[in-house]
Amino acid sequence: MTHTVTESDEATIAAIDSVPTGLFIGGRWRETAARLPVEDPATGQTLTAVADAAPEDGVAALAAAAAAQAAWAGVPARTRSEILMRAHRALLDDTERLARIATAEMGKPLAEARGEVAYAAEFFRWFAEEAVRLDGGYMPAPAGGSRFVVARRPVGPSVLITPWNFPMAMATRKIGPALAAGCTCVVKPAEQTPLCTLAIAEMLSAAGVPDGVVNVVTTSDPAAVTGAMIADPRSRKLSFTGSTAVGKILLEQCAKSVMRTSMELGGNAPLIVFDDADLGTAVEGALAAKMRNIGQACTAANRIYLQRGIAEEFTRRFTERMAALPMGRGADPGVVVGPLIDAAAVAKVSDLVADARRRGATVLLGGTAAEGRGYFYPPTVLTDVPDDAAMFGTEIFGPVAGLAVFDTEDEVIERADDTPYGLVAYVFTENLRRGLRVSEALDTGMVGLNQGVVSNPAAPFGGVKESGLGREGGFGGIDEFLETKYIGVAL
Ligand code: NAP
Repeated sequence: MTHTVTESDEATIAAIDSVPTGLFIGGRWRETAARLPVEDPATGQTLTAVADAAPEDGVAALAAAAAAQAAWAGVPARTRSEILMRAHRALLDDTERLARIATAEMGKPLAEARGEVAYAAEFFRWFAEEAVRLDGGYMPAPAGGSRFVVARRPVGPSVLITPWNFPMAMATRKIGPALAAGCTCVVKPAEQTPLCTLAIAEMLSAAGVPDGVVNVVTTSDPAAVTGAMIADPRSRKLSFTGSTAVGKILLEQCAKSVMRTSMELGGNAPLIVFDDADLGTAVEGALAAKMRNIGQACTAANRIYLQRGIAEEFTRRFTERMAALPMGRGADPGVVVGPLIDAAAVAKVSDLVADARRRGATVLLGGTAAEGRGYFYPPTVLTDVPDDAAMFGTEIFGPVAGLAVFDTEDEVIERADDTPYGLVAYVFTENLRRGLRVSEALDTGMVGLNQGVVSNPAAPFGGVKESGLGREGGFGGIDEFLETKYIGVAL
């Protein structure tokens, strides 16, 4: 497959130049001697460089968050809510600039980046609305003689670690509820995509977030910098989105001080199409579930199971749609498939395809990394992928669809659940009973029933098993940043 990679346009260069590149600590931008380059994955060229924090910078950011904690917790919920509402509006009003920043540093097509701005901004609105709805309780003790007063209070200074694949939304999905609950925070964005978080931090400050409430540290040494923050008793909460491997390391670190944790980790989503599915809906749903973010999503359909009766027809229609997706630099018009995040991602996807081939899978489309500049891998479809293929056991994180055939409902549920992950599954059927039965049976935190995208700020997002702990978004999202306090009152 051919693709062209154009040079950065003026709008993109202006957007990148607009982002402050220091550490944001206590409301001030701080430079560091060391700098961390930020690359455009479409070209491999350096876009800019940001500050490269050392562990003491992380601790300084945490100290700023701790110093601001009591005052922020004392700000009336209505005021916190209004600040978040202003930030929501500010992000939407700045969609074009933010989208260009995300596309430049992460590679996703501009249309998807614009969608991510809307999604990211919505977390601020949702949690602005939730901030003023925190409730408590008052009840007589069952045996009489005293009263229970139950109150909610912020957990305290929070460390927020985010991945590169949704550089805006993963930040706002944590900052929104933290601020709404009355917590201050230090955000540590992924080193490949620091610019979106820096831009958002500046916008939050302009929207009225007091100094020290939101701090940002960018670093090339995440283990040392976050390790120093987690080891500091002033940090009271870790919210992490990233790989299961890193999540496990962080959980061990947090165990030392019994720190509250939220973990949004990896996935290995099965997508199941039954014979009685509406095939048009299933093909479009599979395309969305597979190709959103160039396949680099924790929710990406990683294993596509087709019931025998529709397998051939689905494969033909799905492959036709995949073959028609234009690949190129995300900022160029009409591009649907941008680059992968780095050379290692291309190598990983290539290895997974080679492994599946060795084990008997057939490549119907793509299957070879693109040559030339940037980190491109074309839309790829493989059929007859065996259950023991590496791509069915690990996150592909690329535009590669692995297809396999099944016969019965029980069989596919067993195969779908045969993974340590349990984030999301997708089910396509026109039979309502079967749809609900299978959705309830699957061992995942979320199910898309006849739809290929489940992410919504108003819905509880999260997984079971090794896909994580806790939920982000929805009515429970704010609970991750709250403690329950019970006061026993003698009468
Ligand atoms: P990652 O390698 O685990 O990195 C995530 C974040 O952790 C980055 O900020 C990274 O910093 C930092 N980090 C890496 N090693 C660390 C360490 N030893 N100690 C402390 N922090 C460390 O994951 P990724 O490659 O950025 O993101 C892809 C993964 O995220 C996939 O597994 C995907 O499924 C998962 N994800 C899950 C969800 C969800 O909601 N469940 C959403 C999106 C993504 P550096 O960038 O400096 O390495």
